[in-house]
Amino acid sequence: MARDEKASVPLRELADCAMFAVRLAWQADRSSLLRVLLAQLVTALGLMAVLLLIRHAVGGAVTQGGTTAQAPQSEWLIGVIAGLVLLGTAAGILRAVAGARQRVLAVKVDRFALDIVLGAAGRAELPEFEDPAFHDRLQRAVFASRAQPAMVVTALAAGFQAVLTVVAVTAVFAVLVWWLLPFALLAVLPTLKAARDERGAGYDLHHTLSENRRARQYLERLLTGRDEAKEIRALGLAGTLRRRWTSRYGQEIAQVEAMHAVHVRRKIAARLAGDLTTGAVIGAMWWLVATGRIELATALTALAGLWQLSLRTQMIGALLNGLGESVLYMKDLRGFAAEAGSDPGEPAFPSGEFVSVRAESLAFGYPGSSVRALEDVSVEVRAGEVVALVGANGSGKTTLAKILAGLYRPDSGRLLYGDADGGTDVDAEPERLRAASAVVFQDFVRYKLTAADNIAFGRPETPRDGARVVLAAERAGAHAFLDRLDRGYDTVLSKEFTGGADLSLGQWQRLALARAFYRDSPLVILDEPTASLDPQAEADLFGRIRELFTDRTVVLISHRFANVRDADRIYVLDAGRVIEQGNHEMLMAQDGTYARLFRLQAEAYQEA
Ligand code: ADP
Repeated sequence: MARDEKASVPLRELADCAMFAVRLAWQADRSSLLRVLLAQLVTALGLMAVLLLIRHAVGGAVTQGGTTAQAPQSEWLIGVIAGLVLLGTAAGILRAVAGARQRVLAVKVDRFALDIVLGAAGRAELPEFEDPAFHDRLQRAVFASRAQPAMVVTALAAGFQAVLTVVAVTAVFAVLVWWLLPFALLAVLPTLKAARDERGAGYDLHHTLSENRRARQYLERLLTGRDEAKEIRALGLAGTLRRRWTSRYGQEIAQVEAMHAVHVRRKIAARLAGDLTTGAVIGAMWWLVATGRIELATALTALAGLWQLSLRTQMIGALLNGLGESVLYMKDLRGFAAEAGSDPGEPAFPSGEFVSVRAESLAFGYPGSSVRALEDVSVEVRAGEVVALVGANGSGKTTLAKILAGLYRPDSGRLLYGDADGGTDVDAEPERLRAASAVVFQDFVRYKLTAADNIAFGRPETPRDGARVVLAAERAGAHAFLDRLDRGYDTVLSKEFTGGADLSLGQWQRLALARAFYRDSPLVILDEPTASLDPQAEADLFGRIRELFTDRTVVLISHRFANVRDADRIYVLDAGRVIEQGNHEMLMAQDGTYARLFRLQAEAYQEA
């Protein structure tokens, strides 16, 4: 969807979006939806009965011409009043029941709609997350899913009732004073028009504010997050962030105010125009009664009806406004749900053994970035090997690892997957690469869940195996400290939760490693896996890599050359290109960049 797309949505699409909301409600809780609609229908019919009763009662109490009142037969009058009271009671009960149902329905619809958004966000490919427009759409879809579908359904239900009421009142009018009808409708036209303008403007503003809102919410997270709390206090940054937040919010409020200032004026004008028409109709009625052209009973009923009609149509106007705006939000929700495609289901682990993955002349640029992160890169990773990627910061190591792990598709070049089953190379589908690999990212996620979750998430689709969780922790050197936690592996790893504990960064890193062990995939990609470990732990890990990952294939990323000297093959990257390759001895013999940097690092250590 283009970012500057405006709210000039054709009526057909509005109707589609409204239908989408109704379908959501239907799928979320059809029995509640039906009951709510039925209650509205009965209420409207009740109102029709009330109007007819009024006409009947007044007709009995007032003489022709409406000049002198007769003493009403008290039994008859009591009957009518009792009827009115009864109808009122029934309507009250119905409203209470329907109101409760409606609220339950609203909660269920919210859950259902948010579930759609979460599903779609989960299916979105990683490159999408690099795109600000995607985040705008995502934020709007989340907004749209929260409360909006429920609002649409509530508004549709209330609108349905209002329309039924209008029909009911119109039916009474048609029998009594049909000629009054056009005037009654004329009275509400200005309100309807104003409502339409306002909803378009509201939606446009919502679009315009998306990015500003995200930036503001990010500042809110910084100011309230536990992870950020220490650095923000150490720097004394809270005041600066608060001022930025205030300024962002100020911009938002100014735009909201400006929009509403315009529309409140339009709404007042519309309301006055409508009420003037109603006033004129009342005046005309008074004249008609005074000159004996219609009965007083008819006039009173007509006025009561007119009052109801104007009340309900004003209500329809307000509803259409809220509804129209919400329906426009439905467009965001629908669009986002549709663009993310269908659910591919849980990834299947590859049946065949991993033999090799080969990249030929890969090129890749991040979305929105003019410089390529990789250019003409060819590498090969064969089963059982330890392959290292080295190079300066920003040389493209992580990017290449992400492509090998199936997280990004290269812009050009080939990625081939050797499979023991078929024996021939096939184009490596990202899904297949993802299923075959375990990646320990440099910026791995610290899940604020139990320690066991943190490990078992390595293989989420298979039933959890407690013994394997412990085994993975042992191999990663995490078992000792996890075992000492108050609730052991069931301890939640965050102080934000009751009974929670926190770990050191190095311990978290071991947990991330344990997750990779638990995943037990044929290809393991370790991106600076020891960045937070102490030197002893680092030496242990690299010294034992082959033992730890027996029968596995390992891609190792490190900027410390000593760590990778035992690798079967080392690729040296520079500015997105492979500039040297070979094992340690070959690269030292070449006496190129690798040899120079290796000696530089070694000297630094020796001096120290
Ligand atoms: P390395 O792992 O060798 O430090 P990276 O693969 O992370 O290098 O980065 C390679 C290049 O791609 C760098 O110029 C970096 O700025 C750029 N880059 C990395 N991640 C992104 C991203 N998400 N969006 C845009 N550019 C990126």
